Amino acid sequence: MSRSGRHFLQIPGPTNVPDRVLRAMDAPVIDHRGPEFASLGRAVLEGMRAIFQTAAHVIIYPSSGTGACEAALTNALSPGDRIVIMETGWFSHVAWRQVAERLGLVVDYVPGTWRRGASPDDLEGRLAPDRGHAIKAVVIVHNETSTGATSRLRDLRAVMNRLRHPALLIVDTVSSLASVDYRHDEWEVDVAVSGSQKGLMVPPGLGFNAVSEKALKASLARSTRSTSTYWDWHEMIRANVAGYFPYTPATNLLYGLREAVTMLQEEGLQNTFCRHARYGEATRAAVRAWGLEMVCEEPSDYSNVLTAIMMPEGHDADRLRKLILERFDMSLGTGLGKLAGKAFRIGHLGSFNDLMLAGTLGGVEMGLAAAGVPHRPGGVTAALAHLAQPA
Ligand code: PLP
Repeated sequence: MSRSGRHFLQIPGPTNVPDRVLRAMDAPVIDHRGPEFASLGRAVLEGMRAIFQTAAHVIIYPSSGTGACEAALTNALSPGDRIVIMETGWFSHVAWRQVAERLGLVVDYVPGTWRRGASPDDLEGRLAPDRGHAIKAVVIVHNETSTGATSRLRDLRAVMNRLRHPALLIVDTVSSLASVDYRHDEWEVDVAVSGSQKGLMVPPGLGFNAVSEKALKASLARSTRSTSTYWDWHEMIRANVAGYFPYTPATNLLYGLREAVTMLQEEGLQNTFCRHARYGEATRAAVRAWGLEMVCEEPSDYSNVLTAIMMPEGHDADRLRKLILERFDMSLGTGLGKLAGKAFRIGHLGSFNDLMLAGTLGGVEMGLAAAGVPHRPGGVTAALAHLAQPA
């Protein structure tokens, strides 16, 4: 069916790709071992260091975010190593616990409610008794995309420092990077994992690791060296010195990434974070006015990337999403795992502005009415009132 106007892609990633990024990718493929490629390679590696707020090594894989998770675990750890993963939602399970267990790691999965970020007290409770430092790594999802809860990394790192626990800190920034503040060096993160398709505004297909010196050393000291060539940090770093990659990179996605990084630098990272905070607050104002419940119950953990909303008892979230897609041509995020059918998610990240938010919330409000979901009208008005306040 032909549709008029633009589709609203308001899932929490992949996000809308700006025309500038699309145009930058619309170019002939070049020789990835030629001189022109080296300047592209150097530019994206340097640019991504600024986005991660780090002077450490950044690795770029032709992969999705899950590939970059696997890369982090494969390089930093050996089968049989014990690690702690904080349960925050669907992604702490599928992208981390499941991948780690398949790699032969012994996972201490610290239970969470799926209604808040990782708890510093729970982390302390798990690390404090480990006086022999058997735990080799702690994994935390910075922004849990299934629930709309952001973990307070600074506080979680402080727990590790207070206990003087030497475990590596591995952080999933797949849906936080370039949307909410993430400070790789200042927060002493050892390995950060990310993907191109969310805050970075690039199509899916690039995975990232930012790697501290401590993590690099750990990767050399492992009892069992990984047999993976594809994910090997050291192979990558050797080739990256001259701007190249050990195997064929995703050249045209890298053109897009170079443009996206330029756009983020033009806006200024802190302004990008403020823009996302404004949209997070405006969306929450709408949800409160509708009289609906957010999945995240802890105000200090509210996500500025997406808002996950609980459906009133007896109403199916996927029926609402289907109606909104068919009638208003807007995609919203589905409920994942135990939230399937019970919650839906509004993405408000990436290339996004005031009127796109107004349109998104307008579509949700019309959809709630059309689907007969009990709510109070006035959510859009509340959001617009928030947007009208000085930034
Ligand atoms: N981690 C988080 C927090 C995510 O949101 C996602 C995907 O949405 C992933 C990991 C997995 O990334 P991908 O789907 O690109 O493999």
